[in-house]
Amino acid sequence: MKNIIVLGATGSIGDSVLSVIKQNKNKLNLLGITFSSNIAKAKNIINEFKLKNVYSDSDESHKSLKHTYENNQELNILREKSELEELLNKDDVDIIVSAISGFSGLESTLMAAKTGKTILLANKESIVVAGEVVLPLAKEHSTEIIPIDSEHNAIFQCLNSNKNTDDVSKIIITASGGPFLNKKISQLSKVTKKEALNHPNWEMGAKITIDSASLVNKCLELIEAKYLFNLNEKFFDLVVHPQSIIHSIVTYTDGSSICQMSNPDMRVPIAHALSVHNKRLSLNFSEIDFSSLKLTFQDIPEDRSGLVNIARNICNLGGSSGTIFNAANEIAVQSFLEEQITFDKIYEVIYRTFDAIPVSKNVDIDTIYETDNETRIEAKKVVKSIS
Ligand code: NAD
Ligand code: MG
Repeated sequence: MKNIIVLGATGSIGDSVLSVIKQNKNKLNLLGITFSSNIAKAKNIINEFKLKNVYSDSDESHKSLKHTYENNQELNILREKSELEELLNKDDVDIIVSAISGFSGLESTLMAAKTGKTILLANKESIVVAGEVVLPLAKEHSTEIIPIDSEHNAIFQCLNSNKNTDDVSKIIITASGGPFLNKKISQLSKVTKKEALNHPNWEMGAKITIDSASLVNKCLELIEAKYLFNLNEKFFDLVVHPQSIIHSIVTYTDGSSICQMSNPDMRVPIAHALSVHNKRLSLNFSEIDFSSLKLTFQDIPEDRSGLVNIARNICNLGGSSGTIFNAANEIAVQSFLEEQITFDKIYEVIYRTFDAIPVSKNVDIDTIYETDNETRIEAKKVVKSIS
């Protein structure tokens, strides 16, 4: 039996993880969750899984949990970060799923990196902003990081869990193109929030859905892949593949290309990661209909090349550059969702903010938090100047 803690369990990745656990109750056990919002959903999870541990950083959630479960002696309701850290380090914890959205996921990912357990990583932002801290920390504590972002999990599977990439010649990361496939940035000034949140292939949290629509998600994923697989950005190509069936392709030096395929369903990479190094789990998945399958590929749109170039530069620059890019984007996305800027201005906020903040080469966790803060202030100024 593998005991699992899900950080950010009330979100979209949380849903998929819980669904895989439910389908494999004889092998997987949900030991604890953390969440920020959606108390009703958290309570459903607590009841359904007869949960033993729950942590929320929100006062409101904490109060509500204490009230509802005052007679439940079995449930530990945690409030302090030290209590969460203690829980993650307990002997019976095997797997920690990092599924909080955005920069907020960094703190608990760092905690998880120090445990020596297995991390299933969905929170790509923690690697983009702090890959240079999280990965060495994980190595130092023998914590294994298994990606569950579908493209990275696909790469991991195509590499056959092999850490040695000497014989890799190219890795292709696919992008769905999102709801605005084939649209130029200049055509995006009037799109609504509802249109931007309506992803054709994946049902995900709001932030990543907007990132998919802008293609920033693919830029974050390029940076994530560079860190996770420790390869120069030159090894990675980004390609639009609207069907989202092939999640990534690894081409080896002898000319063989291996890809991983599935219908777009996050439970597939999650199920793989939950059984990593063991026999695969069983999942109630929808089969690919190969007889009617048409796979198409196209270049990343020309007018997003500036954005991709920034991401490639970040891969080479390292230091605080990923933190700046991520914070600028988080403010841009939040401003779009709050209807302060139009969709096309997301790019302007990122470009102008990225240019305004100097990159420092050497970072530690304190400088990452400082840079994040400084960048958010600058990005908000840019938003104000154009809204
Ligand atoms: P979501 O918005 O649906 O869920 C986020 C979860 O994090 C919620 O449970 C929320 O309560 C919790 N949360 C937010 N701030 C928190 C905090 N400070 N402390 C504790 N919990 C907090 O997001 P999502 O779509 O599930 O995405 C989660 C992460 O996974 C993101 O980094 C995203 O890029 C990545 N990812 C998601 C998908 C997907 O299909 N949804 C695919 C690949 C990668
Ligand atoms: Mg992805």
